[in-house]
Amino acid sequence: VMPASGRSNDPSFINKMRNSGKNMIVFYGSQTGTAEEFAGRLAKDAQRYGMKALVADPEECEMEDLSKMGEIENSFAVFCMATYGEGDPTDNAQEFHEWLEDGTSELNDLKYAVFGLGNKTYENYNTMGKFVDSKLEELGGTRVFELGLGDDDGNLEEDFVTWRESFWPTVCEHFGVEATGEEGSVRQYAVTVHEDIPKEKIFTGEVARLKSFQNQKPPYDAKNPYLSPVIVNRELHKGGDRSCMHLEFDITGSKIRYESGDHVAVYPINDSELVNGIGDILSIDLDTVFSLLNVDEEASKKHPFPCPCSYRTALSHYLDITSPPRTNVLRDLVEYASDPKDKEFILAITSPTPEGKKQYADWVLADQRDILTILRDLPSFRPPIDHLLEMLPRLQARYYSIASSPKLHPQSIHITAILVDYTTRTGRPAKGVATSWLKNKIPNGPLKPTVPIYVRKSQFKLPFKPTTPVIMIGPGTGLAPFRGFIQERHQAKECSDARNMARDVNEVLREVIMEEGGKDRAQAEDYMKKLQSKGRYAADVWS
Ligand code: FAD
Repeated sequence: VMPASGRSNDPSFINKMRNSGKNMIVFYGSQTGTAEEFAGRLAKDAQRYGMKALVADPEECEMEDLSKMGEIENSFAVFCMATYGEGDPTDNAQEFHEWLEDGTSELNDLKYAVFGLGNKTYENYNTMGKFVDSKLEELGGTRVFELGLGDDDGNLEEDFVTWRESFWPTVCEHFGVEATGEEGSVRQYAVTVHEDIPKEKIFTGEVARLKSFQNQKPPYDAKNPYLSPVIVNRELHKGGDRSCMHLEFDITGSKIRYESGDHVAVYPINDSELVNGIGDILSIDLDTVFSLLNVDEEASKKHPFPCPCSYRTALSHYLDITSPPRTNVLRDLVEYASDPKDKEFILAITSPTPEGKKQYADWVLADQRDILTILRDLPSFRPPIDHLLEMLPRLQARYYSIASSPKLHPQSIHITAILVDYTTRTGRPAKGVATSWLKNKIPNGPLKPTVPIYVRKSQFKLPFKPTTPVIMIGPGTGLAPFRGFIQERHQAKECSDARNMARDVNEVLREVIMEEGGKDRAQAEDYMKKLQSKGRYAADVWS
């Protein structure tokens, strides 16, 4: 099936591989984009070994096709799987996880390798990576290379680079392939600069749908956040040099529902000083409108972020310009260092040798150099903006524990956020992207600044029975969800009031009738009245 855009949306990845002459597929289970980035890097590497690789999102693929891998000659599947929360799969790998758990397929022709992304501070370290690796073997697959485990609490980049270093020689031996030619930078996206494009076709920071901020439509989710007015922004600390903010987001009329214990995600905007700094140092006009288009026709991702947009929008809304860049970003851009000294230095800090890793850990990570600082410190290193934009990771939404209960505050969501503001080892002042941006969202009379948000459900809930005692332990902003829980319990004590009880039961029944019976509000009320008049709905209420 070819949609109008000319790109394939066939869920059969075997067809896609066959049609595009690919023999390797790299799946990613990604929540924040790192696993997706690693998958892209492995697929890029593959070209050097004469293997042709496709990067794929399991959510968009018919994973049953894994049993047909024998139909492709010399085929190989790699999985970069992140573990999320309490040992859970990422959102896009949930169905794949269930399919594997079901475990009825025979994967005798599957050759595979897995790299897991996790965090050792969590009890369920790398559960998803370990599960995929052992389950594929159990179903008949052949493990070509040992499971790699990356620890985000340590140095995830180094874990990945180390694993990849021994991965490729083993893969070469297994598939009888060899490295071909020089290691060079391969562009995944081609740039077009738009001279005259109508304004209404240009993205200005929307997450997915053009003009979604002007034209807001529920339901609101990660791809369609709600522009919520900030109605309260208050400092909680009295004295001291730390700052902790209490913010309230208005959700009136948005149809957003939440429960205490859920998280609210906020899409922040990068500091304009940093954005202008990058524009200045690369001598570019930030208001130039451009598009990046994937050169691989079979790739499910057409653009790395919403295009067309201006360089300013890309740097402000879409790209992470403050985290220390990973080794592949610097390595892929090394050719743009014109001074041999700068070039040698970049090659040294990005080399997968023990000295290289040490230098990267020291100069990039420990010194917390962001891309602008690196450009300032290496005066001859001036990559073209479009190549830099292709390499930088996506700016991520930040999560906050909801610090209110919908029982008490059905029309607003509260958060408690610590302002991130510190000085790096090199003396550079650094600010957290989201918290320093939120700090300035101060309501001024009728003027309410807005913030794009959506609610993410969580498993963190109060026990079902309100009589069950609870011990809550939460240091610092760990207290936030407990504020919601306490409001909830307090309200429940008052919800035992008979009048509310009858009203709440009525409300829930009406919702059930609307949802299950496909009725609107008025029809549902009508239906309930009929039930009442026939004696099929009766209430005995006293207090
Ligand atoms: P960023 O720009 O992301 O910068 C943070 C980074 O700066 C850190 O990773 C670290 O590398 C560096 N850094 C920070 N301080 C220092 C320092 N002193 N020295 C050196 N380096 C430093 N946060 C809350 O405040 N309240 C909450 O209720 C809350 N709930 C959360 C719930 C979930 C499920 C998750 C995943 C996170 C939660 N967080 C919460 C964290 C929140 O999402 C953000 O990570 C946090 O606000 C920082 O975002 P930022 O964009 O301001 O900072």
